[in-house]
Amino acid sequence: MVNTDFPLIFERGKKGRTSYSLPELDVPEIDLASEFEDSYVRSEAPDLPEVSELDIMRHYTALSRRNYGVDSGFYPLGSCTMKYNPKINEDVAKLAGFSHIHPHQDPKTVQGAMEIMYDLQTSLSEITGMHDFSLQSAAGAQGEWSGLMMIRAFHEANGDYDRTRVIVPDSAHGTNPASVSVAGFDAVTVKTNDNGLVDLEDLKRVVNQETAALMLTNPNTLGLFETEIMEMAEIVHGEGGKLYYDGANLNAIMGYARPGDMGFDVVHLNLHKTFTGPHGGGGPGSGPVGVTEEFASYLPKPVLTKQDDQFIFDYDRPASIGRIKPYYGNFGIYLRAYTYIRTMGAEGLKKVSEYAVLNANYLMRRLEQEYSLPYQQHCKHEFVLSGKKQKQLGVRTLDIAKRLLDYGYHPPTIYFPLNVEEAMMTEPTETESKETLDGFIDAMLQISEEAKSEPELVQEAPHNTVVKRMDETTAARKPILRYQK
Ligand SMILES: *Cc1c(COP(=O)(O)O)cnc(C)c1O
Repeated sequence: MVNTDFPLIFERGKKGRTSYSLPELDVPEIDLASEFEDSYVRSEAPDLPEVSELDIMRHYTALSRRNYGVDSGFYPLGSCTMKYNPKINEDVAKLAGFSHIHPHQDPKTVQGAMEIMYDLQTSLSEITGMHDFSLQSAAGAQGEWSGLMMIRAFHEANGDYDRTRVIVPDSAHGTNPASVSVAGFDAVTVKTNDNGLVDLEDLKRVVNQETAALMLTNPNTLGLFETEIMEMAEIVHGEGGKLYYDGANLNAIMGYARPGDMGFDVVHLNLHKTFTGPHGGGGPGSGPVGVTEEFASYLPKPVLTKQDDQFIFDYDRPASIGRIKPYYGNFGIYLRAYTYIRTMGAEGLKKVSEYAVLNANYLMRRLEQEYSLPYQQHCKHEFVLSGKKQKQLGVRTLDIAKRLLDYGYHPPTIYFPLNVEEAMMTEPTETESKETLDGFIDAMLQISEEAKSEPELVQEAPHNTVVKRMDETTAARKPILRYQK
């Protein structure tokens, strides 16, 4: 167990202790203070701890142990695909031939790096059934925005200026309506039916000549496959609208189904989810966008293509929505995704989806014994439970999430999607073993027992973390980023 009581460096100093030894000064000493205006000069020395090198090591090691990541434990954060990031990806990304090149280098001198980007574009096109890809965008959200800007450019090129609305399901990820708005469209909501899928009748009602696109993830954020996707595509295309695919949930269907074959015109993928780029604090993201042939001329520029036997950056793209990211995007993440695709191979990627779906269904069926399951059909890579039974006992989903921390697990995504009361959105991913899943199930079932017998234990959790319950609004609006005695 983590020793959370280890005192941080600020409480550990002893006058006169140092963690360095410098050679004797062999140049003339200067009075630095006299070089600055008086108002910039301290009147007294700052109150810094004086500590040994070992103390510093222990300070930072203790801090790092307070962190929680995929490398330290199970992380079933729904919609985020917190799968293991293979270390071979890091080895490849570190190779000097990749890590020492400069974006200003003449393309002729970095043909190898460009070939990898080109091959990655080709692989992603193949995996999704699209015509071409641009790797530039740095996140899923930026991919969404770029894709919508292309759809906008397409309609405008056809003189279709009245297409101002983009349809989004009520279960959509928050970035969807946000991207719609930033791209200058109005978001229109389409309802979810009793089976957790897009309500086709409602879709017919909202689609019209003002529809620029329908924006959808499949499987959706409830982890359910939209079985009527072909009908939906027909309805939207029939009115002249386009289909945008939010590819954050591709981990469920890779190798089995392709958005391109479902009728989607523009897609984005999250290389930091499905394709093992590190997440969150672990590094920059990557949200490549893929398009059908009809949209190829609108791709962000420069477009990486092959001419004769040379890879080139093509800037001569008059219809392009323009550059959306300095240089060529997050190259280090391309290397990781490329390595992952190559090490898995086509069959391996298919297995990924199989096990992701199997793990999710196993968890779901065991947890539904104690937690309410709003949609009964089999799920894909994730599922949403409702904590409404526990709420009746006075234990809220937030309490359950906090109690999971005591058991050493990162909680699922909670209170999302918005259309499920007390939602717990759980995504185990394919990289977890049955033993890990069983451990998590035991903890969840134990918490459900506690909710009945000792609700205060859950309501007051967490009991053994450094920080207890935070005021999350104040933490976001007025963060305290400095140590205070
Ligand atoms: C993660 C996610 C996004 C946004 O991706 P970012 O890379 O975080 O910007 C969009 N839609 C869904 C369904 C997601 O899970």
